[in-house]
This record gives sequence, structure tokens and C-alpha cells, in this order.
Amino acid sequence: SVPASIASALSSGAKRGLLMKGGAVIEGAANVRHIAFDKTGTLTVGKPVVTRVLPAAGVTEAGLLAVAAAVEAGSSHPLAQAILRKAQEAGVEPLPSRDAKALPGQGVQALVDGTMAWVASPRFASDMSAIDGPAIDQATELEAQGMTVVAVFREGQPLGTIAMRDEPRADAAEAMRQLKAMGVSAVMLTGDNPRTAQAIAGSLGLDHQAEMMPEDKLVAIRKAAEGGGVMMIGDGINDAPALKQANIGVAMGSGTDVALETADAAILRDRVTDVPALIRLARATMGNIR
Ligand code: ADP
Ligand code: MG
Repeated sequence: SVPASIASALSSGAKRGLLMKGGAVIEGAANVRHIAFDKTGTLTVGKPVVTRVLPAAGVTEAGLLAVAAAVEAGSSHPLAQAILRKAQEAGVEPLPSRDAKALPGQGVQALVDGTMAWVASPRFASDMSAIDGPAIDQATELEAQGMTVVAVFREGQPLGTIAMRDEPRADAAEAMRQLKAMGVSAVMLTGDNPRTAQAIAGSLGLDHQAEMMPEDKLVAIRKAAEGGGVMMIGDGINDAPALKQANIGVAMGSGTDVALETADAAILRDRVTDVPALIRLARATMGNIR
């Protein structure tokens, strides 16, 4: 019977870490034509590592890290974790800071030792006239190699830049090949800059849209839905609205309560190839019913 095949698909999915909230998810996933992937923590491991510390003239590496870590102490962003780890490894104590404020999609600011300081995208720093030409050129070059670069500055004074690398998940490229073979198109949506986005999406073989604010991701998903069923895959923390907007929202990763609440399904084992596996399971199940 119909309910029996759906129930058996739900339980066979659950056995391999594919949790679906009810039979409607099977039907929705079988009809997916387009998938939007978040980058950080979804297509990538989500644990960026600092690769370069580049102080501005007259600034020491320790001086740069002390301010950067002070600002990031008030942020829960993966880039903040990377900078705090680096400062700790270098034996640098963050300066005293307070009143940290996230600037979504752009960076974070905080009062450090009584003056306002920022860790933000080079573009944001450039808009604030707080990064010089050579530092921008250097950042551009590192970004084209797939790194994310942030600029550190204090009341308009450039302190330097920090480059980080977040590795793609080991099976991400294979997942993209499988989806292509199944006739499902895929796009990576990211708040990161176009060069880093191109380097990562290019190496995985999918399209991308960069410099997206959270609300831009919503609009992109709404638009994609005009062309058929859309699935959104995110790690669920800042992707919750986009996960809700998609026909099927899938949370990636085990440790995300917000994701499990908002999403229609969850991939518990952090394997990107579980995305095509989920769609195959759904298609096979609906094929048996029809
Ligand atoms: P993603 O879509 O990759 O999760 P976000 O929207 O979180 O990206 O961030 C976009 C960009 O904003 C980052 O690449 C970085 O330049 C800047 N940014 C955001 N938060 C921070 C932070 N805490 N520290 C430094 N830079 C940040
Ligand atoms: Mg993200």
C-alpha cells in the first residue's frame, strides 16, 4: 500500500542518517529539480584555518592578532573561531573588548580598549577607507586561490589582513557529479566574495552566487521555485529562513538544533553524497507508488 512504502522509505533513510519529517518530504524530494547549497559548513567542513597573518606597515603580527581576537571574541562566526584559535596558538592575549556587534554578511565590530575596531571583508574596509591598495591587491590574489580574507582596522587605521582556508568536504565534488547525472541543477549561495566563491564552486563543479546577504538567499530560492521543486541545504544556523522558504529544506550536520526545528529533513552524517542519496530514495519510493 501507499503508506507502507513511504513508511519503509522513512525507516530505511533513518538507518543511514537521513531523517525526514513525514511522508510529504518523500514526495517533495522526488520532485526536486534544483538545489541551493550554503557554502560554509555545508559544502565545506566549516572549520576555517588561518593561513596568513599580514600586518600593515608599523604593526606587529601580535598587535594585529590582539585586536582581531578582541573583536572576534564577541562573535560566533566560524571565521571568529579561526582567528581566536590562531591568537591562542601564537600566545597572543586578546585586548579587553566589549559591545561586539555583528554586521551580517560584512563583519563584526567591537570597542577594543575604548576605541571602535572592526574585522570585516576587504570590500567593507575599502568602503570605510581602512585598507590600502597593495593590501587589497594581495587579498584579491589570495581570494582567487580559494581563501577568505578579512581586514582588521581601528577608527579608520588599517592594522592588516588575515587569510583563512575552509576545505571543501571530501565527497562534495562526487555529490555534484551524481546530481548532474540525475538531472538536478545545483548552485552555491554564499556571503563570501566572488573570487573565493568561484575558486570553491569551480573546484566542485557547480554554479555560484556570491556576496549574498541572508535576504538575497531567500529571493534566490523563491525565484528558483518558479522553475520546479527547490531543495535548500544549509547548516541551519543562519540558513533557517532559506530552509523554510524552499520546498524541501535539509539541515546538514549533527549538532544543529535550529536546523532540525526548521528543516523538513536532516543529514546527520555530514556527507554531501547523502543529498543525491535522499533524492534517489524518494524517486524510487514514488516510482513504486505510481
Ligand atoms: P557565508 O555565506 O559564507 O556563511 P557570511 O554571510 O557569514 O558568509 O559572511 C560573509 C562575509 O562577511 C565573510 O566572508 C567575511 O568577509 C564577513 N564576515 C562575516 N562575519 C564575520 C566575522 N565574524 N569576522 C570577520 N568577517 C566576517
Ligand atoms: Mg553559512
